[in-house]
Amino acid sequence: MSDSHGNASIQGLGGQAGRDVSFPKPISEEHATQTTRLPTNYARIYALVCEQVPGHHRTAHELYVEAHKRFPTMGISTVYRGLARLRDMGLVEEIVVPGGDSAVYERAAPPHSHFHCSSCGDVQDVAYQLPSNVLRRLSRAQANQITDVSVTFHGICRGCASSSAPSGSSP
Ligand SMILES: [Zn+2]
Ligand SMILES: [Zn+2]
Repeated sequence: MSDSHGNASIQGLGGQAGRDVSFPKPISEEHATQTTRLPTNYARIYALVCEQVPGHHRTAHELYVEAHKRFPTMGISTVYRGLARLRDMGLVEEIVVPGGDSAVYERAAPPHSHFHCSSCGDVQDVAYQLPSNVLRRLSRAQANQITDVSVTFHGICRGCASSSAPSGSSP
């Protein structure tokens, strides 16, 4: 795989939140098994997610295609179950998006938001975090306990916007 530079980072997130998850280097399958005591197949899925450049997201199906290439016996239901387990363990972030595949995955990262292109379906990281005082205020006002928040913006990405621009005008 060529997409494993481990150095990209999200600008501007600061260290406000209590979570101290930083972007670590890609993790090997053996390392995943040792450090997380995951069943082998789940460790393989986790290692696949960890190969992604920070800021890249893949659907369960894309991860399945990759997993199946390397481990032909791995079925799609194992991939779905594995992702759900990894999400519940806090190792993997699941970003729910409207449309066919309905979610994309990335390695757990410092809190950030996402942008979803409703034309091509691409999901990008956005360096924005809902201020904690807003969450506190909402919690108080509604008497609900907010424990988690995910912000996803929807719109048309740069690529789609430029490719749908009128073609008659000069570039
Ligand atoms: Zn797009
Ligand atoms: Zn992300």
